[in-house]
Amino acid sequence: MPGEPRTGAGDVQDGRGSATREIWHRSSLEQLARTPADLLVIGAGITGAGIARDAAMRGLRTILVDQHDIAWGTSSRSSRLIHGGLRYLEEGDLGLVFEALRERKTLLTIAPHLVQPLPFMFPVHRGDRVPLWKLWAGIWLYDLLAAFRNVRWHRLLGKRGVLQAEPMVRERGLVGGVRYFDAQCDDARLTLATVRSALAHGAQVTTHARVTGLLRADGRIHGARLEDQLTGATAEVQARIVVNATGPWCDRLRRLEDPQAAPLIRTTKGAHVMVRRSRLGHDAAITLTSPIDGRVMFVLPWGEFSYIGTTDTDSGDDPDQVTASAEDVIYLLRSANAAFPNARLSAADVMATWAGLRALICTGGAVGASQVSREHLITEGPGGMVTIAGGKLTTYRKMAAELVDQVADRLHRLDGRPRLPHAATAEEPLPGGEVADLEPLGTPGLELGLPIATVSHLTRLFGTECAAIFNLVRERRTLAQPLHPDHPAIEAEVIHTTRRELAMQVEDVLVRRLHLYYETADQGRSAARRVAELMGEELGWDGAAVEREAVRYLEMLAHSSDSK
Ligand SMILES: Cc1cc2nc3c(=O)[nH]c(=O)nc-3n(C[C@H](O)[C@H](O)[C@H](O)COP(=O)(O)OP(=O)(O)OC[C@H]3O[C@@H](n4cnc5c(N)ncnc54)[C@H](O)[C@@H]3O)c2cc1C
Repeated sequence: MPGEPRTGAGDVQDGRGSATREIWHRSSLEQLARTPADLLVIGAGITGAGIARDAAMRGLRTILVDQHDIAWGTSSRSSRLIHGGLRYLEEGDLGLVFEALRERKTLLTIAPHLVQPLPFMFPVHRGDRVPLWKLWAGIWLYDLLAAFRNVRWHRLLGKRGVLQAEPMVRERGLVGGVRYFDAQCDDARLTLATVRSALAHGAQVTTHARVTGLLRADGRIHGARLEDQLTGATAEVQARIVVNATGPWCDRLRRLEDPQAAPLIRTTKGAHVMVRRSRLGHDAAITLTSPIDGRVMFVLPWGEFSYIGTTDTDSGDDPDQVTASAEDVIYLLRSANAAFPNARLSAADVMATWAGLRALICTGGAVGASQVSREHLITEGPGGMVTIAGGKLTTYRKMAAELVDQVADRLHRLDGRPRLPHAATAEEPLPGGEVADLEPLGTPGLELGLPIATVSHLTRLFGTECAAIFNLVRERRTLAQPLHPDHPAIEAEVIHTTRRELAMQVEDVLVRRLHLYYETADQGRSAARRVAELMGEELGWDGAAVEREAVRYLEMLAHSSDSK
């Protein structure tokens, strides 16, 4: 077993040079079991992370646990868009669009390094399901609903305008298009930043700890049984209120409370493939309708890469095992090839794939239709466990506030404490997000002699916290070594993510924190051993543990490449 992490708290420099007290450790189960919490949140995807942050900011004693890593589930497998959702316009759901557009503005403000404006081109061809006039009207409405929170106002383009901007899109049948704006995010790092904000406000966080049972007295749930997946330790953790924020796993958790519980959600799979951007030659994000089934999908830029997504197929897959299938890959490549006829993408062009399960609220069944929001649902089980299901990345902050309001009411009824006022989750920046202009943050890195590509990678991933990485390089120059010949990441980032971002396994670093999994041709394979060595320095691994952790990553790669 890898050793217990080195834990602690200390003074760290924030990006503005002032020292702040920050706690960054993963709590052990023993620490969690010591004092009963007000709130135990199960699931450290964006939903659970948002709830833990909101609750901790209101002063609740909060515990957040996840069976894997932060954002291991759906929250690192999305289309990475922070958007109002054009499709809701088609369905006439203006309220949902309005709310999501407002949240888009909030996230652009509190995490400017992780959420960035993104221009889109929506080309329209003769015979498309949505004609150009209708699309234009829809995007007018979309921009109007954003009120003064627009990223930028849209533009209607004729055929020539579309081809001038995006010469590689299919010319045959093209009638024109609309250029509009939304935002893109680093989904895993947004979740991580939210968890770290919760930590900074006093929440305790334990990853790689699975809830295996619920504690009950007089029919009421008052905690959970946990099993540490790294050490095998078990513990019982007490809490006044338990929240199930486990996304596609939520019905499994509900059945720990009530074995007869009818399903609350149905799951559909969404897959993506990553290819080199030069193979498609696009500039903006491209919105397209698949020629296979008329569904709207995207080709999205990601630095030198593009990802294509998504599929939407009913799925009974185990959320622990979900991967993109060969059929998913073919569907995505065929759809992209139809929009970019010269690309001729084949499976050999695919660098990485990812797939996640959408947790869609079942209408009817256990829940009356009137209670159902098609986006998300908050419900209470017979033992009092609160389940939150559905939603999206874009609206997580709002969902969290709604849930914590209910928790605050319940705590007031339970022990008479005053109802807690709203937390300033829309105003306080997430860690690293204190400054919107990223460029000046990189100056110390350039002065240290780091390449421009590395400096811009560091400011984008870490925002103001890139200062901590520059400090590591200053203290130990060898940490400026790249981790991989084709990627800007450097060794100092491994030390930083292990010390301050709760990385516990090589996969945590290479997939969700630094993204070499998606952005290198060998998916970070050649960096795995060095990453294990550097993590081992921080976590006290001996030679055998370093070897085991590196091999674990290679095994994960073998499993994930089944579909490629
Ligand atoms: C393909 C796809 C594309 C999407 N694209 C977008 C998009 O572009 N924009 C957008 O706004 N939204 C998008 N969404 C929606 C968004 O990604 C999800 O709504 C969101 O990530 C769900 O987060 P969550 O925290 O509820 O669930 P998850 O992220 O799945 O987190 C649940 C967590 O619970 C943990 N867990 C489960 N069981 C246990 C247990 N027994 N003990 C401890 N922990 C447990 C899991 O390990 C997991 O980490 C997309 C969804 C999909 C599937």
